[in-house]
Amino acid sequence: MEAAAKGTVIEDYKLEELLRCPYRYAKRQGAAPSAKAEVNWVQLAQVAVSQVVNAFFMTPEGERSHFSIPDTLERWWTNKVAKFESPEHYWLIRQRLIDGLHSLLASEQSNTPIILFEQHRVFVPELRVDFMQIFQAVLKSDNGHPSDYIVRKYIVDEEEEIIDLFQHLTAVFCSSAFGRLPLRIEVLSVLSGNRLIVYPDKKSLEKSLDYMKLAVSFMPEASSAAGRLRKSKESAECRRCPFLGECLSPVEESAEAIMM
Ligand code: SF4
Repeated sequence: MEAAAKGTVIEDYKLEELLRCPYRYAKRQGAAPSAKAEVNWVQLAQVAVSQVVNAFFMTPEGERSHFSIPDTLERWWTNKVAKFESPEHYWLIRQRLIDGLHSLLASEQSNTPIILFEQHRVFVPELRVDFMQIFQAVLKSDNGHPSDYIVRKYIVDEEEEIIDLFQHLTAVFCSSAFGRLPLRIEVLSVLSGNRLIVYPDKKSLEKSLDYMKLAVSFMPEASSAAGRLRKSKESAECRRCPFLGECLSPVEESAEAIMM
């Protein structure tokens, strides 16, 4: 794998998109704006969840007991029923998001983030790249050192690879940007209620740097071969991909490499 070009700026959502499917990522780079804007139900649900979380934490602590999750979700909930597996699936996901947000936000009546839905940028000297990352919520730790902090993300899609990317990127980013690792990196899954938590330290930071070095070298800007990798047709990613029909048709030999 080659290194990224000097002066490269890498945004977190692009790395995520690349990991989901390198072929689709490369295809979208040259696509018309309408194709770039194609979204699936998971992305639509994530937009609604992010808006509810943002509105909840923007509400003054004393007023949060009156915060209505169903009403706020309704304002951001999509009407694109066809993007879901069926009308029943559309309504089921809506209800499960309301229930999941209730249980995850119930304990946050008096917790106000120090960073809420902000994009930050940092140069990481070890990798010689600039990263841009959107932080949903950065919170003060309730105990320990006064400069301890927690990075938290509320997610819809509990895909292991994407969670790994977020945890490694966050450790690398925070170490360079804030000069101190987060006490915890929390990924809270709204649909399952799972809490996936890591406690980064000096040793795990080394691993995170290696991981990010590999991820950066994998960007099609750095490696022309990466953009030919496709997902396996049985993967969840393919099942909800707008390009599935196209991918099922015969393709060039060079585009057949499969990643799981
Ligand atoms: S159908 Fe699968 S392999 Fe094809 S672009 Fe979509 S995710 Fe990638």
